[in-house]
Amino acid sequence: MATVAQDVSFAQKLDQLARVAIEVGLGLTRGQELLMTAPLDAVALVRRITEHAYRAGASLVTTLYTDDETTLMRYHYAPDEAFDKAAGWLYDGMGAAFRSGSARLAISGAHPGLLSKEDPGKVGRANQAVSKAYRPALELITRHEINWTIVAAATPPWAAAMFPEDDPETATQKLWDAIFAITRINSEDPVADWKSHDAGLHRRAEQMNAKRYAALHYRGPGTDFRLGLADDHLWMGGGTTAANGVYCVPNMPTEEIFTTPHKDRADGLVTASKPLSYQGTMIEGIRVRFEKGRIVEAHATRGLEVLEKLISTDEGARRLGEVALVPHSSPIAASGLTFFNTLFDENAASHIALGQAYTNCLKDGDKLTPEELAARGANDSLIHVDWMIGSDKLDIDGITASGSAEPVMRGGEWV
Ligand code: ZN
Ligand code: ZN
Repeated sequence: MATVAQDVSFAQKLDQLARVAIEVGLGLTRGQELLMTAPLDAVALVRRITEHAYRAGASLVTTLYTDDETTLMRYHYAPDEAFDKAAGWLYDGMGAAFRSGSARLAISGAHPGLLSKEDPGKVGRANQAVSKAYRPALELITRHEINWTIVAAATPPWAAAMFPEDDPETATQKLWDAIFAITRINSEDPVADWKSHDAGLHRRAEQMNAKRYAALHYRGPGTDFRLGLADDHLWMGGGTTAANGVYCVPNMPTEEIFTTPHKDRADGLVTASKPLSYQGTMIEGIRVRFEKGRIVEAHATRGLEVLEKLISTDEGARRLGEVALVPHSSPIAASGLTFFNTLFDENAASHIALGQAYTNCLKDGDKLTPEELAARGANDSLIHVDWMIGSDKLDIDGITASGSAEPVMRGGEWV
């Protein structure tokens, strides 16, 4: 393991983050185009990434920026009928870029509560219009047709949400420090560190696949919960080879290994270990009881109404579509911070997700019909919402097909 290098300037760290994004995150190849999206506040990182992309042989780098203030102007001044509109031509163009072999990089750094004071009806309609217009292009990403990744940049509005007591400059610096530490930039050779971290995630997933557990049993404060795994489930984690043959690590950071639970086989009580930030609202103290896969009782100390609305979205919204294991010693958990950003928060602790399952976490899942997927236990829903249940007090057993229990995690760490 490389040791922490001292006296590395901010500019050098930013440059290392860009290098890791291109070399490890994307694995960008010579002659490949790159399509990047970023908040305007992330322009310094965009410039570093652009240089590394061209040095790696990119033929063309195109960046699309978003800006909070101009986004808000639509909500303040546009006519009501405007909110069902999305830039379809833009998403068609993104799809065309992906189909012609362009790589995709997203810089995450959004203001977590940007639209929290706007009319929820308008927000919902605008989101829906974008989802519809973006779906064909997004499917190429979720099916891993091309190499893609997401990295984060500290932006002042995001930092202000995390560190409300600090002045904007201090808050942004604190968030950058956290991003550098968690994204494994603070070492002498971040690229080598990432490669060994990625190999570790693959090893972990393979170990769990070899076990072929029928279920997991969780025990911790307020939690006594048995979760069946889908038939022919596959644990996944770390990087993946896209259909274009390029190996990429889609999320930076990534600490989880995850698979598909059986939608009808969750029983018992689960208490969340962290608040859930959902569309600008905080849901705290979540405690739910499952019976045969369904939530039959839901409690929250704050935001219960939002939680109830969420699980009433459709039948699949009160069932589980993902189970992920993250050790409590992961760098995100160690930071003790809540990021209000899924890329970070879902990699901070073991979690489960309400809603849609990942079909690539089932053997030959991409070739199965919706009926075959359902028969194996894969859940179907419009939502996919991760919530954290991991802590240093959580014990997890693997239950074998014959019903015997083996320790998987103790005190939140791998056994
Ligand atoms: Zn996850
Ligand atoms: Zn998830």
